[in-house]
Amino acid sequence: MIISNQLRRPRLVLIVDDQEINRDVLGMILEDDYEIIYATNGREALEMIEENLDRLSVVLLDLIMPEMDGFKVLDIVRNDEFLKRIPIIVLTAEKNAELRALQMGAADFITKPFEMHEVILARVGRIIELSEGRQLISAAEHDRLTMLYSKSFFFEYANRIHQYHPEWHMDAVVMDINQFHTINELNGREFGDNVLRILGNEIRAFLGETEGIASRFEADRFDLYCMHQADYQQLLDRFQEKVNTLSRNASIRLRMGVNPWQEGVDPLLLFDRARAACNMVRGDYKTNLMVYDEDMRNHELLNQRLLNDLQRAVDEREFCVFYQPKFNVQCDPPKLSSAEALIRWKHPELGMISPGCFIPLFESNGQIGTVDNFVWNEAARQIADWRDRLGVVVPVSVNLSRVDVFDPALEDTLTGIVERNGLDYKSMKLEVTESAYTDNAGQIIGLINRLRSMGFEIEMDDFGSGYSSLNMLSSMPIDVLKMDMEFVRNIEHSEKDFRLVEVVLDIARYLKVPVVAEGVETQRQMELLRDAGCQLVQGYYFSRPLPPADFEKLILREKEIVREN
Ligand code: C2E
Ligand code: CA
Ligand code: CA
Repeated sequence: MIISNQLRRPRLVLIVDDQEINRDVLGMILEDDYEIIYATNGREALEMIEENLDRLSVVLLDLIMPEMDGFKVLDIVRNDEFLKRIPIIVLTAEKNAELRALQMGAADFITKPFEMHEVILARVGRIIELSEGRQLISAAEHDRLTMLYSKSFFFEYANRIHQYHPEWHMDAVVMDINQFHTINELNGREFGDNVLRILGNEIRAFLGETEGIASRFEADRFDLYCMHQADYQQLLDRFQEKVNTLSRNASIRLRMGVNPWQEGVDPLLLFDRARAACNMVRGDYKTNLMVYDEDMRNHELLNQRLLNDLQRAVDEREFCVFYQPKFNVQCDPPKLSSAEALIRWKHPELGMISPGCFIPLFESNGQIGTVDNFVWNEAARQIADWRDRLGVVVPVSVNLSRVDVFDPALEDTLTGIVERNGLDYKSMKLEVTESAYTDNAGQIIGLINRLRSMGFEIEMDDFGSGYSSLNMLSSMPIDVLKMDMEFVRNIEHSEKDFRLVEVVLDIARYLKVPVVAEGVETQRQMELLRDAGCQLVQGYYFSRPLPPADFEKLILREKEIVREN
């Protein structure tokens, strides 16, 4: 049978080297397992490749040779539709040449003087297996759009470089595009693809000038593993300029994170940190480059520690809930109307930790549910306790994280809490930040509608920090607008800022919902807001967030006032 015949026939290997001793040694290593043919220079090699095209399993190619060198052969083979399916393993004694050969499409390399025989056999075997197993290996290795390596291939090579050349100082660089999905939405996919292509081209041009490899890691994220550069700002500016040529109407902003080479740190970790650095570049337009440094390392260690400590904190009751009052300023004197529950973490070693430090952390690690559940339960218990002991129902708002809204059990959890504590649904209000609405409008509107129909009141938190259009707003189910603190900060000194507050109040009137102004610190701010028609005020002017016992005093004082009047 033809097939079994073919299978039994040994695979053909071409060894190309101008030095006889090298040909002999390799031949000796491989002869038991393969049929071997030889060439002594590039020109001869090409002829033999053409001749044996249908049978040749792999080429072992020396780089430095007379007549035609190995680079030229590589170049020709890799750019030929038919020849390029044959894998080439490069033989080299020169460290820098290896990398260049890999960039040019060599499948692997073997260093001279030759390593242990078993290693060479295993490498040759593996490359043949790969090329036979995946006919389209080269398509899988490359991203079609940018012609950069696929991510798995990229990491394989990065690891190899790291392993074989621990003395090379290779930096991890991560680059991505701010709000790429928005750019796609506004300008169309084709435009987005063009941006990526142009970046791919420029990255390849850069890699032509220095040693390194690159991949498109995912949609708009690029990974570069390259020889240490002195000035990454310059590199980033170079890429930025390239995309600027495309973006007459669209503003495209690149951002970059770099983790410089560190002795013994493997590429995976190096890139994790480069990505962390990249993610630290926020929307502010001052910096677009972040280099991973000691501060960030400490920050990461702290985060790791907090994550580890979470469960203990719950068990040991290190979390507690503070309450910050909201006052109705349209009454004279202003009247306590409700409160916001704000979590606090009393860490036994680190002291009081602000939620700004751990909420985003637990959100990104999917642990926020544990924290929020605790707060909701605690707040509900507290409302019931005050009602029973003081005879006053103080409605308390709790914060819902943007991640909570994806929890399929959310409605059941909240209902359970309200019912268990015998509360009226209106007395536990839910604050949902504006950006949670805009990030996943469809999903959240459905959820909020259901929660509202159960009787919960919804406050839109940090209003004005997101990007809802008036159009979107009017279809968003909400009961209260909480104006972002930024609006209030400068109203005493800036006419323009005050106008903005008036705009927010107008929007609220249009939506027929009351406004809570947050972050009100001075009497003047409070008066300006009150006179402009803002109904509720929360902030240090009235009170900082208080432990329950102190908040209780506030309730009692209110009762006195009511009784006196
Ligand atoms: P937020 O929901 O916008 O809460 C208001 C923040 O402003 C609170 O910070 C509060 O202490 C602070 N604040 C109140 N009045 C003033 C003022 O007059 N001036 C200034 N400068 N700040 C004022 P806090 O307690 O540090 O909380 C920060 C953020 O952490 C909250 O922002 C909220 O997004 C989040 N957070 C707090 N507790 C929870 C919680 O239980 N669950 C979730 N998911 N997030 C929470
Ligand atoms: Ca809030
Ligand atoms: Ca807020």
